[in-house]
Amino acid sequence: MRTKFSQAQLADPDIRQAAEILRHCVECGAANATCPSYLVLNDENDSPRGRNRLIRDMLQGERPPDSATVAHIDLCLSCNACTALCLAKVDFMHLVDQARGTIEKTYRRPLPDRLLRGILAAVLPSPGLFRLALMGSRLARPFAALMPGRLKGMLRLAPRRSVRPSPVDRPQVIAAEGPRWMRVALLTGCVQQVLEPAINEATVRLLTRHGCDVMVAAGAGCCGALTHHLGKTEPTEDAVRANVAAWMREVDGEGLDAVVVNASGCGTMVKDYGHVLAGDPAWSERGARIAALARDVTEVMAELGLRSPACPEPLSVAYHPACSLHHAQKVRDEPKRLLADCGFILKAIPESHVCCGSAGSYSLLQPAVADKLKERKVARIGWVAPDVVAAGNIGCMVQIASATEVPVVHTVELLDWATGGPKPPALAG
Ligand code: SF4
Ligand code: SF4
Repeated sequence: MRTKFSQAQLADPDIRQAAEILRHCVECGAANATCPSYLVLNDENDSPRGRNRLIRDMLQGERPPDSATVAHIDLCLSCNACTALCLAKVDFMHLVDQARGTIEKTYRRPLPDRLLRGILAAVLPSPGLFRLALMGSRLARPFAALMPGRLKGMLRLAPRRSVRPSPVDRPQVIAAEGPRWMRVALLTGCVQQVLEPAINEATVRLLTRHGCDVMVAAGAGCCGALTHHLGKTEPTEDAVRANVAAWMREVDGEGLDAVVVNASGCGTMVKDYGHVLAGDPAWSERGARIAALARDVTEVMAELGLRSPACPEPLSVAYHPACSLHHAQKVRDEPKRLLADCGFILKAIPESHVCCGSAGSYSLLQPAVADKLKERKVARIGWVAPDVVAAGNIGCMVQIASATEVPVVHTVELLDWATGGPKPPALAG
């Protein structure tokens, strides 16, 4: 793609990176067909190629973007389907991240939008605040019909049961059962531990049963992805540095074989810590070391191998590949192979590579497109009529579960069950 950045602009490392990414784009439009926002909206400006052009014009223009440009970039789900498919290897993921940061710094959003984004950035990464917000949302649920669209959507996604803190999320070391094969840190995260504490509990049981000392590091918290996707650079880098510092204390102490992540949106972020901190000489090396240690829980389990898995019930499982795991991390076979090793009957969801519309806080900020993608996903799940849906990302689980009667569980909950753990709560009724 032709660009006209001035030499002065190219002196800025961020602009240089954007120019380099854009230079690779041959404007073929090949990735448009796989882009979920383009599938729903059928507008070139909501496709990867269209957004490349908008981002180029925005960065070249050196003035605040117009509201239409912001709207088209906001409508991107950061699903990475385009990055994964593009033969020219256009690194759209980092390009759109940079565009979001530029918008946040230069564009004044309307007040309700600013307020909502500010609340999401403050509440979601903090388990304490998020738990309080969910308690409030349960009280507000009877009045949902009176609320504006986006608030109504948030209430719909809030769980109906109480959200108890789990003891596994506290800083500690949980010893391996039997001989130790690995010492791993578990990212216990933020939103997931509140919405579905059973996931971290199943992960700890599964890992310790397979010979891992599992440590939850003091000082580690949200991975930073939620604020990163809102374009908020400062809180993102603060969260990233806090996690890097917490895990590096372990690396420099007893050592770590892996940082295990069981929410693939967070895993994509942690694997990118080297890039996030690349401009900070004091942190860049440590960021890159932690990024190199980051593994999805299914990658670790595929390496360890399941011990004597036995199918507890002959259930058919439709595995939903979260975009962050499938497109961004390219962890594609491990979850399916592990589920098949347990004896579950796998059912392939048609068009499974298309985003379910969750995408971090996207379903809260862009409910119209998110709902269309959810309906599309749930309809295709219905075609294969599984007993259960499995996914490796809490956002997808909540999104899909809000529109289907089929139980939705995390992949680790099934692996844990098949290797001696309890039945997942969603299946136990
Ligand atoms: S991003 Fe890749 S697929 Fe899309 S137009 Fe550019 S070169 Fe083609
Ligand atoms: S990241 Fe996803 S939604 Fe955004 S342009 Fe690429 S394919 Fe489309």
